[in-house]
Amino acid sequence: MKILTEHIDVQGIDTIDVFRKNGGYKAVEKALKTMTPDEVTEEVKKSGIRGRGGAGFPMGMKWSFLAKPEGIPRYLVCNADESEPGTFKDHYLMMKSPHTLIEGMIVSSYALGANTSYIYVRGELMYVVNILEKAIQEAYDKGLLGKNILGSGYDLDLFVQPGGGAYICGEETALLESLEGKRGNPRNKPPFPAVKGLWQCPTVVNNVESISATSWIINNGGDEYAKIGIGRSTGTKLISASGHVRKPGVYEIPLGITVENFIYADEWCGGIRDGHKLKAVVAGGSSVPILPAELILKTVNGENRLMTYESLSDGGFITGTMLGSGGFVVMDETTCIVHNTLTFGRFYHHESCGQCSPCREGTGWMDKVLYRIEHGKGRQEDIDLLVDVAKKIEGNTICPLGEAASWPVAAAIRHFRDEFEWHIKHPEKATQKGAVFMRE
Ligand code: NAD
Ligand code: SF4
Repeated sequence: MKILTEHIDVQGIDTIDVFRKNGGYKAVEKALKTMTPDEVTEEVKKSGIRGRGGAGFPMGMKWSFLAKPEGIPRYLVCNADESEPGTFKDHYLMMKSPHTLIEGMIVSSYALGANTSYIYVRGELMYVVNILEKAIQEAYDKGLLGKNILGSGYDLDLFVQPGGGAYICGEETALLESLEGKRGNPRNKPPFPAVKGLWQCPTVVNNVESISATSWIINNGGDEYAKIGIGRSTGTKLISASGHVRKPGVYEIPLGITVENFIYADEWCGGIRDGHKLKAVVAGGSSVPILPAELILKTVNGENRLMTYESLSDGGFITGTMLGSGGFVVMDETTCIVHNTLTFGRFYHHESCGQCSPCREGTGWMDKVLYRIEHGKGRQEDIDLLVDVAKKIEGNTICPLGEAASWPVAAAIRHFRDEFEWHIKHPEKATQKGAVFMRE
């Protein structure tokens, strides 16, 4: 079942003519000519689609929270600042099929009553900015953007904004600050952007994948979309698979397949690289807890773990994790979990914006303590110190980066404590370069 990637390998799909020959922009015609904005919103609500950036917040509900005061403009901002380590699905979609996103932007902007919308693209991806700008110009030339789109009376201008080049600019309120030309510092919430967003006006911020799915929902109906998947995890999801699998890449899966199937079936990742066995998985990008092989494949009740929001989080953070952004990082038995935790920990320390002390100082502490454990200078009490620092960050910060930094450290220690202890007991194994320790 392919919704977003059905035509992604068609030669020339990045051009408007080929995109239209393959059914592109039919949703714009249908929505703008035959539906009211509320009817479009209703279909999105019926679909049950949840935000694909990572939080999984119901998209239709977010749209219905949008304040609509008289005479105040509203905005749709697409969060294309995909920076979560292990996540590269939006990048793939925009690079291969930019019109899929542009069509979704038109349909969604119409539903929300926005006449100016933005795509905020990760600053490192300038070539994607160029691809989108070329595609947007084609859409203007064909009357799909600008004044009186397809004679419907609806006007929309669409702009691409290159991001500020920092991970934190993907946090929705930091993104809005950056879009306004300021340093990308997260704002306190509430107020949520739906009430006070871009230039203090009501704004919906949605992920690339979420917005792109709205065209299919309008063409086929929300009920049809809701038939795909299981329970509250409806539709398909793009998963970026990386690490020690035989076939890394971006896969569009129907939500609800088993994790085992996703890792081992030839249709998806094709199993672990030859001669090795599964050790651990980070299922939803670096911000979510790592799980060892036995827990990623089965829940503690012995049920097959499914690729759904609910099943992956079964067991909370003690024995579960999150679907998150779908950044699925697979590690085999050659992976040093301490080294991996240090790599992620260093990233969060570097990317903390520094506004709140628990995050600014705590990520620094965790980075330093992980570094000394990894480099043969660890002390036995360091393991509990790490857990303590992680706990003190959690719940005490302005934005989720604090938690994103602390959860993976706490989970790595919970599931692989013996590996941290081994590092501390064997300082002689550290090399001058601080090379990766391996279990014997
Ligand atoms: P969140 O749960 O705070 O919010 C989710 C969305 O719902 C936001 O748009 C928010 O404005 C809206 N919302 C929530 N409650 C609302 C209310 N009462 N009224 C109006 N709107 C409301 O999460 P978040 O901060 O948006 O995202 C965190 C997630 O982002 C993490 O779990 C992580 O998986 C993911 N993430 C993804 C990337 C990436 O590159 N894709 C990078 C970093 C983090
Ligand atoms: Fe900045 Fe970290 Fe506070 Fe987020 S949690 S606002 S990144 S200091």
